This record gives sequence, structure tokens and C-alpha cells, in this order.
Amino acid sequence: MQTFVKRSIRNIPKMATSAHQNFAKYLATDHMASDLVPLDASKLQVTRTTQPKSKLPKEKLVFGQSFTDHMLTVEFDQASGWGTPEIKPYGPLSLDPSACVFHYAFELFEGMKAYKDSQGKIRLFRPDMNMARFNKSAARICLPTVDGEELIKLISELLKLDQSFVPEGEGYSLYIRPTLIGTSSGLGVGAPDKALLYVICSPVGPYYPTGYKAISLEATDYATRAWPGGVGDKKLGANYAPCIKPQLSAAKNGHQQNLWLFGEEKFITEVGTMNVFFVFKNADTGKKELVTAPLDGTILEGVTRDSILKLARDRLDPNEWEVNERYYTAHEVAEKAENGLLVEAFGSGTAAVVAPIKNIAFNGKDYDVPLVPGEQYGEMAKTVADWIADIQYGVVDSEWSRVIN
Ligand SMILES: *Cc1c(COP(=O)(O)O)cnc(C)c1O
Repeated sequence: MQTFVKRSIRNIPKMATSAHQNFAKYLATDHMASDLVPLDASKLQVTRTTQPKSKLPKEKLVFGQSFTDHMLTVEFDQASGWGTPEIKPYGPLSLDPSACVFHYAFELFEGMKAYKDSQGKIRLFRPDMNMARFNKSAARICLPTVDGEELIKLISELLKLDQSFVPEGEGYSLYIRPTLIGTSSGLGVGAPDKALLYVICSPVGPYYPTGYKAISLEATDYATRAWPGGVGDKKLGANYAPCIKPQLSAAKNGHQQNLWLFGEEKFITEVGTMNVFFVFKNADTGKKELVTAPLDGTILEGVTRDSILKLARDRLDPNEWEVNERYYTAHEVAEKAENGLLVEAFGSGTAAVVAPIKNIAFNGKDYDVPLVPGEQYGEMAKTVADWIADIQYGVVDSEWSRVIN
């Protein structure tokens, strides 16, 4: 038993963390020369489109299928640093077929949104968090980092120019996709000496146009999304393609998403491309517990996850609630479900804010997750979704919401 515990996941992250610190030091000292030109928003050059697109009626918007008139691009060269930021008409890129992004997956992205408030002002939600994560992802794959505030300024300029594309109304927003790719040509495997940062924007409608629709999950243990010492906590494109086949397989059995498990213990990590929260009832204390997995390198550090934890710790009555980041397993969830102690479960991410869960297939059994009677959501999912939407749309004042115009 002792040796088993020693080998368990709990001890691996410590090793991974010290390895990461060494790696971070290496990146800071060796890889990037410090006299490179930093990203500078004041150098921005704007070329407006001469062919403005006609806009879809907002009811017809499909996630990530239509884009605004303009995009932002900035090139990076190891010899000089960041080049001139450009806003120009949205259009194809031209890259050498040997560019390292196509062969060795030097690619990372961010996902964030702009919201139009009731006064028509455009707001970003905690964009500093996206910039910090962008830089963590970049550093891990030897791509250049940026001054996050400069990139926010540039994104703000793009949003101002394309603000007529930000749809109005509850649930509507403009999805923003900052992307960084390695563009060095040649098939040698090594640190890229050229990169391209670009930002595209897609108007999106409410994730649940006709009200919440709770999802069914397959607890997946035959495929692993992320592992200690790996890169599952970074938004690298390379993490996503391998998850589609398991998702198709779950779909064949009638489940919308994979509940990603890790290790022999079957730790619960994430759901699909979202973080995941469970609410349990503690039979001894009578308190409820809001729980999600800790950030140990196997969990994507979701902005929504962090926001839910902070708001829950701030707003829930501590006499009735515990809010915990801890390890928990599919076995624990199954046991709680069998004993009537599973209260609810939901995924969290920028696209949907919350995705209520209605059942989980695990070990050949189907476990129902309670919902509010007659509804497609649990109480806590709805509560946190409303808390966050009120901040995003400027209904309540919060330093998390940044007006850009
Ligand atoms: C993007 C993402 C999330 C959610 O992050 P948010 O910042 O809340 O949008 C969670 N898990 C994975 C795997 C992701 O890619």
C-alpha cells in the first residue's frame, strides 16, 4: 500500500513542477536574446477592407463559422524580435509547406470573448488571464512570448474596427482566437526562429439558444487526455486532435462528451474541452461541497474555472458550503451517486460558461446526475453561470470586466 501511494499521481506533480522550473529558467536565460524588439502596439498599421462582408442575422450564427472583416497579424524573427503589428482584411495566410507548424505542431491558441453591454460598450472578461496562459503555452514550445498588455491593446484596436460584428443581446458575443505558430521553414526539428501571431474573431450566438441542454458523458479510461509532466495544462493545438476519436466513439454510444479519467485510481480531470465541477453532499456535516480537480499540470487552467472558484469562495455561505480543489475519482462519484450524495455536475469553459451534466456511463453502469426537476440544469450551474454573465455583460461592476471603447 505504501509503495502504491508513493507512486500515485500525488507525488508526480512535484517532480514535474521542479522540472518545469528548470525548463522555465532555461527558456528565460538561453533561448531568447533579451535585446529583441518587444511587441509594441503603438507601431500598429491598419489597412481597412474595401469589401465589407454582409452580416448574418444573429439567429443564424454558428460557432466559429463566420469571421469579421479584419484580422491582426504580427511576425516574429529571432534575429530582430517582434515586427510591425498589422490589422488588415481577413484572408488566407501564405506559408512555406515545410513550415514547422505543419510538421511538428508548433501551435498554440487562446479562446476569449468580447461582449456588448446595454450601453453598446465592448467588454473583455479577464483578458490578462488569457495573456498569461498564452505566454505559458508559448514558452513551453519555444515560441516567443509577448507583453500581454500590448497584445490586449492590439486586440482592442481590432475589436474597435470590427465592433459592428459584436452581436447584441444575452448570450451573444464575439469569440476571439489569438493564435501563435512557428513559421520557420525546413524539416529540421528544433526551436523555431520565426513565428506568426494572429488574431481572428467570430461572432457567436448563445451556446444554448433554446435553454440549457444537459449532456451525457462517457467516463473514458482507455484514452488519456493529459498526464503528469505532459502539456495538457497548455492550450497547444497538439492536445486536441487526439481527443476527437474518443469523442466519436463516445458519441456512437449516445454520449456527447468524454469524462477524461487519469490513472489506475480513475481520477476525474476534465470533460471534453472543459473543466469539470461536481457538487456532493457530505453525509456527516450536512454541508455541500463544490469540487474540481487541482491544477497539477494535467488540468487546463480555465479562466472560467478560476472565476467560478473565486466567486463561490466569495459568495457561498461557508456554513453551508465547502469549495475544494482536490483529487477525486470516478469511483467516488459512483459511490456518492449510489448513496444519494451526488447533487449535480457541470463542465465550465468560455464557450458555454457552464455545461450541465445529466448522466455518466462508468464501468458498465449509468449514473444519473440530478437536475432541477423539469429543467436541464442544476442549481449551482445556473447560479454560477448567472454570476459570470452579469460580470461579462457589465450588469454588475467588476474589475474582471474591461471596457475597451
Ligand atoms: C480552453 C479549455 C478549457 C476552459 O478554459 P476557459 O479559459 O475557461 O475557456 C478547459 N479545458 C480545456 C482542455 C480547454 O482547452
